[in-house]
Amino acid sequence: MPDTNRILGGRAIVLGAGIAGLATAGVASSYFREVIVVERDKLPAQPQTRPGVPQGQQIHNLLRFGINAFEHIFPGFQDRLTTQGGVKADYGKDMRVFTNGVWHPQRDFGLTTYFQSRPLLEHTIRMALQERPNVTIRDGFGFESFSAARPGAIDGVICRAPGGAEELLQADLVLDCMGRGSHSSEMMGKTGYGDVETQRIGIQLVYATAFFRKSPEQQGKQDGFLILNHFPDTRFGALLPIENEGYLCTLGGQFSEHPPREMEGFMAFTRALAQPEIYETIKDLEVMQPVKAYRLPQAFWHRYDKLAHFPEGFLPLGDSVAGYNPALGQGMSMATKYAMILDELLAGRAKTGGGLKNLYTEYLPRIAAEAQSAWESAIPINLAHPEATGDRSADLKQRLLFMKGIGLLSLEDEEVHRLVLRVRHFLEPPSVLLREDIVTRAMALAV
Ligand SMILES: Cc1cc2nc3c(=O)[nH]c(=O)nc-3n(C[C@H](O)[C@H](O)[C@H](O)COP(=O)(O)OP(=O)(O)OC[C@H]3O[C@@H](n4cnc5c(N)ncnc54)[C@H](O)[C@@H]3O)c2cc1C
Repeated sequence: MPDTNRILGGRAIVLGAGIAGLATAGVASSYFREVIVVERDKLPAQPQTRPGVPQGQQIHNLLRFGINAFEHIFPGFQDRLTTQGGVKADYGKDMRVFTNGVWHPQRDFGLTTYFQSRPLLEHTIRMALQERPNVTIRDGFGFESFSAARPGAIDGVICRAPGGAEELLQADLVLDCMGRGSHSSEMMGKTGYGDVETQRIGIQLVYATAFFRKSPEQQGKQDGFLILNHFPDTRFGALLPIENEGYLCTLGGQFSEHPPREMEGFMAFTRALAQPEIYETIKDLEVMQPVKAYRLPQAFWHRYDKLAHFPEGFLPLGDSVAGYNPALGQGMSMATKYAMILDELLAGRAKTGGGLKNLYTEYLPRIAAEAQSAWESAIPINLAHPEATGDRSADLKQRLLFMKGIGLLSLEDEEVHRLVLRVRHFLEPPSVLLREDIVTRAMALAV
C-alpha cells in the first residue's frame, strides 16, 4: 500500500493498459488509495498481440530513457525483462546501422538496451503492476464516456463490459491512456472547453513485420541491423533478435514504397535493401509468424496545452497526446516521460499538501515542452521527403543540412556519435548538439 503521508486521493482511474497506462498506473499507485485500470481488451495471460494494440506486431524498441523510467517505476524491471527472454544488448556496439551509404562504426557507449517483442514488454510491465495491492486491472471493460457532475471537472467514467450494463466509476483523477484511439480531443470541443488544435504531418508510412526462428548457429546472437536505403528512397529494414531465439524483421516505406504484405514480396523487398545483411540472415529461416502490416498515415500532436479552459480531474498521457513517426522509436519513451512528470508533480503536491487542484496547469505546459522537443527533433526526418505534407518552416533546408552533417560527423568523431545516440535516447537535450564547434564542423561536412 502507498505511504499514507503521500496519499493525494482515494481513487485514480487509468483508461487503457498499454505502455502509457501501465507506466501511469505504476506512478499513481504511490499517491492514491486505489488505482483502477480500465482496459477494453481481454488481456492475455501470456505475451500475445491483442486487438487494442494493433501496432504491437511491429518492432518496438524502448529507448534508454524509457528503460530507466520503467526501472524507476518498477524496480527490478530490467531483470524481469531478461528473465522473460528479452535480449540484453549494447545499442552502440550490437546494433549495426547503415545510413547515407555507409555502415556506422560500432562503438561501446555503455547504452544497454533490450530487444523483445512488444507483447513481451507489455506482459513484463503488467506482471509488475499486478503485484501492487492497490491496483486493479479491469479488462474486457470499455470506457464509454466521462462523468462530469460538477461543471468544469471530470469526476469519473462510465464503462461497459461487452453485452453488460453501464457502470459509473467515480474518481479523483482520470488519466486518459487510450492511445491513438482516444477521443478526448473531440470531447473538449463538444463539452465547451474549446477545439483542440492538432498539428499533423502526413507521412504515409507502412510497416510490415514477420517473425523468424533463428538457426542453431544463430542462437544467442544479440546483434541487430537497421538498413536505410539512400534518400529519397524511403525503404528500410530492421532486424532484431528477440525472445524464444527469434528474429523480428520489420520493413518500412513511405508513399509509393510500401512493403508487401505477403511473404514472397516481403523477401523481395528485403533483397532490395541497400545492403544484403538482413536478407542473408533470414533467407533460409523458418517463418514463425507471417507478415503483418500496419499503416500510419500521419504523425500528430494534440495541443491540449493551448486550451483556455481545461477540466479539473483529468489528464491525457501517451499517444492520446501525440503520435510520433515510429522511425525514431520515441512513442513509448514519451509515454514514460509524461508519467515521470506526473510522478514529480504528485510528489511535490504530496510534500506541500497541495492536493490535486489545478494539477493540469502545471502538467500540460511540462508535457508540451517535452512533446515539442520530440516533435522538433523529428521534423527533418518527417518533412525531408517532398511528398510529406505539413508546415515547412523557412529554416527547414538548414535543418536538413544539419541532420546530414551531424550524421557524417558522428562517423569520424566518437564523442559526437556518443552525443547523437544519447540525444536519440532522450538522455541529453538536443541542445548539446548545438555547440558552436559541432555545428560548424557538421555544416562544413554537409555542403
Ligand atoms: C508501427 C509502429 C511501430 C512503433 N515502434 C515503436 C518503437 O520502436 N519504439 C517506441 O517507443 N514506440 C514505437 N511505437 C509507438 C508506440 O506503439 C506508442 O507510442 C505506444 O504504444 C503508446 O502507448 P499508449 O499506452 O499511449 O497507447 P497504446 O499502447 O496503443 O495503448 C492504448 C490502450 O488503450 C486501450 N483502449 C483504447 N480504447 C479503449 C477504451 N474505450 N476503453 C478501454 N481501453 C481502451 C487499448 O486497448 C490499449 O490497450 C510504434 C508505433 C507504431 C504504429
